[in-house]
Amino acid sequence: MIKSHALKIQNAGASMEHSVIERRELRKHDILIDIRYSGICHSDIHQGEGDWGEAIFPMVPGHEIAGIVAAVGSDVTKFSVGDRVGVGCFVDSCGECDYCLAGDEQYCTKGVVQTYNSLDYDGQPTYGGYSQNIVVTDRFVVRIPDKLNMDVAAPLLCAGITTYSPLKHWNAGPGKKVAIVGMGGLGHLAVQFAHAMGAEVTVLSQSLSKQEEAYTLGADHYYATRDQDTFSKLAGSFDLILNTVAANLDVNAYLSLLRVDGTLVNVGAPSKPDTYSVFSLILARRSLAGSLVGGIRETQEMLDFCAEHGIAPMIEVIGADPEEVQHAWERVKQSDVRYRFVIDTEQLNGN
Ligand SMILES: [Zn+2]
Ligand SMILES: [Zn+2]
Repeated sequence: MIKSHALKIQNAGASMEHSVIERRELRKHDILIDIRYSGICHSDIHQGEGDWGEAIFPMVPGHEIAGIVAAVGSDVTKFSVGDRVGVGCFVDSCGECDYCLAGDEQYCTKGVVQTYNSLDYDGQPTYGGYSQNIVVTDRFVVRIPDKLNMDVAAPLLCAGITTYSPLKHWNAGPGKKVAIVGMGGLGHLAVQFAHAMGAEVTVLSQSLSKQEEAYTLGADHYYATRDQDTFSKLAGSFDLILNTVAANLDVNAYLSLLRVDGTLVNVGAPSKPDTYSVFSLILARRSLAGSLVGGIRETQEMLDFCAEHGIAPMIEVIGADPEEVQHAWERVKQSDVRYRFVIDTEQLNGN
């Protein structure tokens, strides 16, 4: 077994503590990655605190992993020691179902193995990126382009692909009016992607407090959703709305902002059900949709797109002290971060 210093949560809602976990010995297709940076995703907090029901404890969160290849199994040909690589939200899938074959591993019919809080196909629990190293089968490892720094690459592995994939799928591009709801970890990346894809981008955020940053990142327009005029002013104007907010919204109000044939896509997931009137869809042939991260091929494409277009998250790098990470979680809960925390996991080397 390979030892890995890690930040562990013993049970739902417990404080983070330093611990040493074990990673499996390399199989033929495995890669050992020395983790350099691990992003903090809001879903880490939901799972660590047990908000989403049944979870596997002890838990080592983290699914925004950037690191360096430290060793490779005998059959690995795509990667070698020293390569800069990333791992996102999942670490295995069946590889045989329609969705795996199409490169949509996240929708695998056998059930994708998540990077943490999941059981691997061998029955072992998976542990995530708040740790010193990780062992992952090569199919689920992506390459970080030279032009991207490792620290900013980390959040792209979840927040990046979560927003890139639906924008691509619903054809954000020239001539399209796209609205991004929420200017947080996801939203501030979505603005950059939609802009780089050539769409006309509007940010819909609660207040005007992030207006300047949104324009810097490529937004063409910005409206405060607290201002009720916003909804009458923008009625029927968007082809696509990407909702990155995890709170319950007035779905009817947002649907009313779509043109005929427009789509409202949710990537933020409130824990309570949303309600809406079906008339909001029928009266303008609108669609209400959702999207889950993106496949491995598309994740690589997204990283390359970021390198090509100079897209990166705005981050705050923190140390790997349990208290420091816990404090960052509290700040994420207060939306007090612009826009993503990244843990410098090299500090976990146990010295
Ligand atoms: Zn995430
Ligand atoms: Zn599959």
